[in-house]
Amino acid sequence: MKDIELPRRVIVGDGAIERIGDLVCELALVGDSLVIADPITAKIAGERVRSDLGSEIYILGGSIDHDIQSAIDLIREKNIGYLVGVGGGRVIDITKICAYKTEIPFLSVPTAASHDGITSPQASLRGRKPVSIRVHSALGILADTEIIRKAPPRLTAAGCADAISNYTAVLDWKIAHEKKGEYYGDYAASLSMMSAQIVMHNAEKIKNHIDILVEALISSGVAMGIAGSSRPCSGAEHQFSHALDLICPKPALHGEQCGVGTIMMAYLHGTDWEKVRNALKTVGAPINSRELNIDDKYIIRALMMANKIRDRYTILGDGLSKEEAIELARVTGIIK
Ligand SMILES: [Zn+2]
Repeated sequence: MKDIELPRRVIVGDGAIERIGDLVCELALVGDSLVIADPITAKIAGERVRSDLGSEIYILGGSIDHDIQSAIDLIREKNIGYLVGVGGGRVIDITKICAYKTEIPFLSVPTAASHDGITSPQASLRGRKPVSIRVHSALGILADTEIIRKAPPRLTAAGCADAISNYTAVLDWKIAHEKKGEYYGDYAASLSMMSAQIVMHNAEKIKNHIDILVEALISSGVAMGIAGSSRPCSGAEHQFSHALDLICPKPALHGEQCGVGTIMMAYLHGTDWEKVRNALKTVGAPINSRELNIDDKYIIRALMMANKIRDRYTILGDGLSKEEAIELARVTGIIK
């Protein structure tokens, strides 16, 4: 049985934020709303949305658990009808979890295009297990490219790298199908692969055409919705990144780590890993341990433990030995 969940309405473009009221009407959302933002994204767009909708606002400030519980308490106390997450990955993920737990719909208003979580029906809170939990998809997405264009370039580069990582995620999915008989959906796989290829192909243009990246990330989320799991957009390169989140004192951004993982997994798949590396370099994403600002020993340890992060068959098979991990990282220029 297939159970596909997709956003109902997506608005992308300069000045899209002005349409928040229309979006609420079109989606027939009722009741009071609660905006969830962090102190920075509240200033960028959260306060504006709050005032347009006459909402309450919850500004994140504590630990993840504390913020989730406090927001849920507020939702119940005020009998909130729907949520609006205004911010980057962490804000949107917390919004998703609160909406899921209180069984109310939510809208996603990304202020940066740093990863595909802005649309996906999955939430993943970094450095935790399980690495990804199934929640609901946003009912509507409002991506104001004027706001997203002004986000720190590092976030945009990380978003490009997350889209590029679909490349090896799809290859992993294919071998899991061939070797383990896992369900494989051609449509979801093609959509995900197309996002990676469009971003690689347009690597030079993205700085000035952020809509290319936003659409690629939204399509990645749609691919996950169609597949019913994060499979089309998360393979061994993501497991490598999740491992770094668990062991590194100071991990880099999700997309940055996945990008570096993609270079190495593309090598293992025997495909054009240099094409991946060049695209990452062009968008300004890290391509080695030094640029990630992560010690080589964590890269090696993460490679060795990546296959155990979750029960998901990938090119890593039963895992790499220390010698194999060092060899892989060296030959792809990730470590010296
Ligand atoms: Zn990702």
